[in-house]
Amino acid sequence: MKHVFSLIGTVLIGTSGFSQDLNNVQLPHMQKASVRKEIRVPNILGYQTLKCDFHMHTVFSDGNVWPTVRVDEAWEEGLDAIAITDHIEKQPGKKFIGGDHNASYEIATERAKEKNILLIHSGEVTRDMPPGHLNALFLDDVNLLEVPDATEALLAAKKQGAFIMWNHPGWKAQQPDTCLWMPMHQDLFEKGLIDGIEVFNEQEYYPTVLDWCINRKLTVIGNSDIHGIVSQFFDLEKGHRPMTLVFASDRSLTSLKEALFANRTLAYFDNQLAGKEEFLKAFFKSSVTIKSTGIKDRKNREMYEVFNSSTVPFHLETLTGKKLMIPSEASIILPLDPIDYNGVSVKNLYTGSKSNLIINLF
Ligand SMILES: [Zn+2]
Ligand SMILES: [Zn+2]
Repeated sequence: MKHVFSLIGTVLIGTSGFSQDLNNVQLPHMQKASVRKEIRVPNILGYQTLKCDFHMHTVFSDGNVWPTVRVDEAWEEGLDAIAITDHIEKQPGKKFIGGDHNASYEIATERAKEKNILLIHSGEVTRDMPPGHLNALFLDDVNLLEVPDATEALLAAKKQGAFIMWNHPGWKAQQPDTCLWMPMHQDLFEKGLIDGIEVFNEQEYYPTVLDWCINRKLTVIGNSDIHGIVSQFFDLEKGHRPMTLVFASDRSLTSLKEALFANRTLAYFDNQLAGKEEFLKAFFKSSVTIKSTGIKDRKNREMYEVFNSSTVPFHLETLTGKKLMIPSEASIILPLDPIDYNGVSVKNLYTGSKSNLIINLF
């Protein structure tokens, strides 16, 4: 805030005729401009695509930043919505920050309004496996989840209308050998206490979890689970943090919640998209346009212009093994035989642990 006042001070001095203080030379051009990097993703099937991260920590659990930093990071990285999900049962700094589990949400609320970021009131139920860790979103009072029994904690969340996701199911610290759906998860699922699961968490991908989600009609989720500073942990020059693309009726918390419960999401990380076929197909078709240039190459093949408006590149492979990469936010011109691109596989769009989106390009 000091910097803002310094800048205002400079302008006032310049226009009001006060003589400049030669012992305080202002160098405002050295201050970093606050810029939002836009992520280009299409709106599909009549819905607005919201870019969301539903899992992150602050000093109010074992994270290293103040809650307002999470809002600033999200805005600069082009997100629409975040959930600050501090651990309920793990607060190493409790002696310094107190024990109110609503604090991070309350502190970040004003900044979220200023930055037009949708902020979801949330917490992370943090238990040994099973059930492991679960985020409860859209809470009124996180403190009511601080009870001894894990199922009781999730029931207390459900009572508040929460959307509950199982976090990092394949995390080696809790599932060292593989990623298992345990009897307790089946029990929670049958009680309606698991609504979605993370397919991407931090820098991990759990292919088998995508099958769990598709087969059980659970919502596919991608989250950062960031504890430190996002730009220090992820290489933002290469890409972005893991996130969930939510297909909502509009850009509001009410519509976001409705879309999450209706399974209208894709998990997105490292140029990979995972989720239901209908959303992957709509995403691809809304991103890519193909038109003939009316020109033929030396071999008399028709030349096509292929344009991809989205931030996601697409890696295609035909049935005969021909590969085509459609770069992000760019056009390419090349000879194509439409017959080759009937039933082409989009290798970085996953419909299951062992299956990709298959489309007709033309
Ligand atoms: Zn966790
Ligand atoms: Zn976490």
